[in-house]
Amino acid sequence: MRLLLSLLLCSSAFAQDNATLGEHARRYLIDLLKLDTTNPPGNETRVADYLKQVANANGIACELLGPDPARLNFIARIPAIIRSGQRPLLLLAHSDVVPADRSQWTVPPFSAELRGDHLYGRGAQDDKSLLAAELAVMVELKRRGAALKRDVILLSEADEESGSTGINWLTQHAYAKIDAEFALNEGGASLETHSGQRIFQIQTSEKIPTRVVLAAKGTASHGSLPRPDNPVVHLAKAIARLADSDQPVKLNTTTLRYFTEMAKLPDSDWLKPLLAKLEDPNSAISAANQIRDKDPELNAMLRTSLSPTMLQAGMKINVIPNTATAQIDVRRLPNETREEIEMRFRKIVNDPAVEVTPATGQDMPATEPSSLTTALYRAMEQVFSLAAQKAVVVPYMSRGATDGSFLRHKGMAVYGVPIFVREGGESRAHGNDERISRTNFANGTDLLLKIVLAAAVDNDVRP
Ligand SMILES: [Zn+2]
Repeated sequence: MRLLLSLLLCSSAFAQDNATLGEHARRYLIDLLKLDTTNPPGNETRVADYLKQVANANGIACELLGPDPARLNFIARIPAIIRSGQRPLLLLAHSDVVPADRSQWTVPPFSAELRGDHLYGRGAQDDKSLLAAELAVMVELKRRGAALKRDVILLSEADEESGSTGINWLTQHAYAKIDAEFALNEGGASLETHSGQRIFQIQTSEKIPTRVVLAAKGTASHGSLPRPDNPVVHLAKAIARLADSDQPVKLNTTTLRYFTEMAKLPDSDWLKPLLAKLEDPNSAISAANQIRDKDPELNAMLRTSLSPTMLQAGMKINVIPNTATAQIDVRRLPNETREEIEMRFRKIVNDPAVEVTPATGQDMPATEPSSLTTALYRAMEQVFSLAAQKAVVVPYMSRGATDGSFLRHKGMAVYGVPIFVREGGESRAHGNDERISRTNFANGTDLLLKIVLAAAVDNDVRP
């Protein structure tokens, strides 16, 4: 009986019915939150299989592909009805989630428990809410027989949270299946200011993880005799020099526009006098330091940042070790190269006993910010402007990295779409008790549909 009931419950998510967009989306989100795709190991095929069942039940062509049967990617496509020659719109959302420590959560992380108006679960913000909304929009386009002037593709890729092997494999082996003029992705952020203005931050660019290792070398010897080449001391000084250094300030088209627009808002008009100083190389660093003292997030958009995070040295208190190493989490501006960063760090460290080398792991590509003049960017500006009174729409560079940079590198315009508002000003992505309110989720799904309709449907043809 229980089995039968769960089969019935399950199959109701797949069938075509008269449920609204919001009801479909919520059902998908609950089902997706219950699928454990903790990476590692991922097991993203669980999500791919689920998406396939929904697509099949709604007559949407799809396929599962990838090199690892347990970690398949999902691609679905609704072809254009109108022959316009316009290239596809890609909807992108990864299927894996970061681990959740059950002991730190007040609800089981894969229960999709509803408390008050909030749905709880690992992935409720990152990234299953976006995936569920995109799936619901695909089903809605199909159900309406929307007069698409370009194909709409849904891609849910595996392994975004760890090695980006999903998107890498796809760009190398199946790019034609996901090639598009532009894409909507995670990475955008929507906030409410103290004075109640809603800011829609469309992510057009992102900083690039550029992990660096510092390794100091000296002579192993007895702790009773201090030595000038003690690697622990050299390493400590090197870390302090780096942490205290002022990294140069560099604006790009996205961040310049962002700061210009933000300075016009009552809540951040203190930026106005600093803006001109930021653009002057003689005063840029002192202006950025003033910004840093007030708002570290804004400072992180102005320059490459570094955080020492891991240390390793010694095994016994009375033995001076011959090596000491530190790992530094560096997030570089996309208009700087890894080589520039490493050269600059060596200069700052200024110690031949300390080597500055790249950490192992793959490098993400550096790219120009995505264009602010595409039909998709314009559609977002239009939809978001109408979504709230005194809405502000700005392009934005995120501190965090996404799979979007691999597609930008292929020439695709990729936008982190800020459909969900940051509730109470806090983000629980990767945190404990990750959740999203049903109202926020429903409103965001509506916004996504409007954007996709504005960018992909021929306005002269009513379905
Ligand atoms: Zn994510």
